[in-house]
Amino acid sequence: MFDLIPDMAAKRAELTPEALAFHDTTTGRDWSFARINEAANAVADGFLARGLAEGDRVAILCQNRAEFFITLFACQKTGIILCPLNWRQPVRELAQTLAPVGVSLMLTDAAFVATARDTAEALGVSVLTLEEDLARWIEVGGPALTAPVPSERPWYLLFTSGTTGLPKSVIQTARMAWVNTVNIGQAINIASTDRAVCYLPLFHTAGINLYTLPIFLSGGSSTILPKFEVGVVRHLLASGQINQFFGVPAIYQELSLMADIGAMDWASIRCGCGGAPLSEPLIRFFAEKGAKVLNGMGMTETGPTVFLMDPVQADRKIGSVGKPQSLVEVRLAGVPDGAEGVGELQLRGPGITPGYFGNPEATRKTFTSDGWLATGDVARRDADGYYFIVDRIKDMFISGGENIYPAEVERVLNQHPAILEVAIVGVADQKWGEVGAAFVMLRPGQSLDPTTLRPWCRERLAGYKVPAHVRIVADFPRTAAGKICKPKLHEGLEND
Ligand code: ATP
Ligand code: MG
Repeated sequence: MFDLIPDMAAKRAELTPEALAFHDTTTGRDWSFARINEAANAVADGFLARGLAEGDRVAILCQNRAEFFITLFACQKTGIILCPLNWRQPVRELAQTLAPVGVSLMLTDAAFVATARDTAEALGVSVLTLEEDLARWIEVGGPALTAPVPSERPWYLLFTSGTTGLPKSVIQTARMAWVNTVNIGQAINIASTDRAVCYLPLFHTAGINLYTLPIFLSGGSSTILPKFEVGVVRHLLASGQINQFFGVPAIYQELSLMADIGAMDWASIRCGCGGAPLSEPLIRFFAEKGAKVLNGMGMTETGPTVFLMDPVQADRKIGSVGKPQSLVEVRLAGVPDGAEGVGELQLRGPGITPGYFGNPEATRKTFTSDGWLATGDVARRDADGYYFIVDRIKDMFISGGENIYPAEVERVLNQHPAILEVAIVGVADQKWGEVGAAFVMLRPGQSLDPTTLRPWCRERLAGYKVPAHVRIVADFPRTAAGKICKPKLHEGLEND
């Protein structure tokens, strides 16, 4: 069957064979595009020699490293589906996660070999290591595969962040990866001269798709860190080695607390952010340092890039995630096309997932009868066509008959000089049905008398939106993507 999307590693090796694709800080090794493609051919050959075939699932348990991408491209060549695992999970959770996926093989690196072996034993599959087995395959080499690679077939599976419940396993396809490359690439001008850092966990969409795959597909290079370490990332940014940087708000927040963060040449780094609400004080903090942090919105289900703020209007539209990018269509439920209004954000286009792996019921519930992805997020479109994420429908609560979107209240509390971060959840209340409970994390060295917060809020918010309870916390329960896990805040209250 004719397919518009070729073997990605082979194509890149043809275009820029000698250029640097990855610098891997775990092994200290540089990988050219040609070497990545040769290694991916060898791993593909190794998979086929073990009897694996298109549609089989292979799990991988490791932190970020070049062999992860080699395996990923080997999967694109063979049609084997890669299932990256969350290395923070213990054996029991990994086995539970994998049971419905039905894997035939587990790959791991030395750091996780014990966990991988125990998990594989529970599932009755075998384990291969990146350092020994895959390294041997790569040394021996393998023939270039010439079979067509259907771009709508599942390529890899990514878990959603698990912010609202158990993570869901989302099918990612080659077509989605290319659509994301166009959407993000046009928005931030990705070029073959770009250098990025790959440090967010590869089992989530931000790790793979922001910006490592788009940079790879565009011929740029990435420095791969095994995981986020604020000092290492700061050093890379400060030393001029990176000119494209993506972070989630929690990462920008951690960077903002570093003493010498203002001394860097921020103007030469293009900065993107997404995944959770980006607070105005954080945008302003970085703007003062010369960095334009562009807010974007996407989901695991959307590959992920849907919206990205443009640099021209960024100062005028603070809080906006920008406009829908080239290869996506957007509608707001109940709002006429193009009109200003607020409604559930619904999406359609070639970059949207075909569904959740092995879970047609969840897939059916997520798509409308006319084929749009119902995001579960409420958004507002302004008169100029810019979008603002209001909140998740699931996080909304009703107090005295009024709908309250916690994100709106959080935005206000984020302006308080003593507050670094805040999360609000609705809790049961005899009189009002539900009221807001604010969990507040203070800026280093700051103190706050919770009783002063109510009058402060009252000056800025309608009375029914003012949180009835305030609790000061040292940190938040977070997902691996750095998002505040509100169900855990609820659990904490129930267990008190
Ligand atoms: P789960 O689906 O498991 O509950 P999740 O929705 O957090 O977790 P992701 O796919 O990583 O998993 O995140 C997508 C969601 O993140 C969006 O649906 C939206 O709620 C939120 N989000 C993404 N970007 C932004 C942004 N710029 N501002 C506010 N919210 C955002
Ligand atoms: Mg979600």
